[in-house]
Amino acid sequence: MNEGMIPADLPLRNDLISEEPYGAPQIDVPVCLNVNENPYPPSHAVVRSIEKRIREIAPTLNRYPDREHMELRQAFVDYLAKESQASLTTDQVWGANGSNEIMLQIFQAFGGPGRAALGCDPTYSMYPEYARDTFTQWHTAPRNADFTLDVDRTIEAIRAIEPSIVMLTSPNNPTGTALPMTDLKRILDFCQNARVAGAADGVHPIVVVDEAYIEFRDPGTPSAATLVNTYANLAVSRTMSKAFAFAGARVGYVAASAGIINCLRIVRMPYHLSAVTQATALAGFDHTDDQLAQVGHLRELREQTAQWLREQTYKGEPLEVAPSQSNFLMFGGHFDDRGMIFDEMLRRGVLIRVVGPDGWLRVCMGTDDEMARFREALTASMRAVE
Ligand code: PMP
Repeated sequence: MNEGMIPADLPLRNDLISEEPYGAPQIDVPVCLNVNENPYPPSHAVVRSIEKRIREIAPTLNRYPDREHMELRQAFVDYLAKESQASLTTDQVWGANGSNEIMLQIFQAFGGPGRAALGCDPTYSMYPEYARDTFTQWHTAPRNADFTLDVDRTIEAIRAIEPSIVMLTSPNNPTGTALPMTDLKRILDFCQNARVAGAADGVHPIVVVDEAYIEFRDPGTPSAATLVNTYANLAVSRTMSKAFAFAGARVGYVAASAGIINCLRIVRMPYHLSAVTQATALAGFDHTDDQLAQVGHLRELREQTAQWLREQTYKGEPLEVAPSQSNFLMFGGHFDDRGMIFDEMLRRGVLIRVVGPDGWLRVCMGTDDEMARFREALTASMRAVE
């Protein structure tokens, strides 16, 4: 059977018929700059810690792991204190298999039939999938032309739609746009008194800030995690997959009020985080500085690449670059056939991403060598398509 073929006699849910599995192509090419990973592998010290911790738990694998993953939750607390100056306790954090699972749990707990969720387009394309999978209606409010959040329109949409979940993303994917704290606070304040359609009076929406790329922000900029003690309706989703250079470990986490965490505990699968995953994540946190060692360099590379891109032209017009606080850049703005540029790049061994509004492409920061190949391939690809 062809990959993707679904026999017509299987009782697939009606709303899933003709849906495709989500995911960027996993193609074996020399330069992969399409899924916003950190290009630097774990240090030897991290690899040794992983070996040691997994050796320790291996003889206990006949038993289920700690369902509450308390040691790991303490590690999240310590990391958030160090990285974001957030003062939290273990009942205010919670882990899962990637922040994708964190956010799915949020939709399972707070979405559902008769409920709606709101995001600000363009944004991360998995949000509508969490909504679909939990029978939650998905709505979007448009961003400003420069991709910053249009706070007034977002608040207006919250008033009109009465969602139970407001999904904000900082920095946003695919645009890289940061959400200033003043804008976030306006939305949080509004949601503290906003209504949720179909729910009792006195029930208010929760605001999720997806901070998957937050470690790449300008140093000194606060994380929404610092607001968790102030706003009981705030959940800040984080991940080890990006700056923390641990995408393969599949560990995400959330900082929120203990009440929100207790709601997530209702919908989680029993023992959802394997003992191997917990041990691996703890090994990463044994060496936080090693894991984050290249973040500053990747940030500089982002600025240099943005500058270089702005100096390039396509059909006589300079390329546009969306200001980014993440490890990727959305660029172009006027690629009239972005698929052709993507294909030309791929032919030259460089995989980027067709995502975001028409006319734009996205590239994430690789090693210095990979970025040199990116620049060469993009120059040649634009000349080939023009
Ligand atoms: N949020 C955003 C904005 C993302 O871009 C991604 C990954 N592409 C995720 C969440 C999910 O990452 P993970 O499940 O690896 O934590």
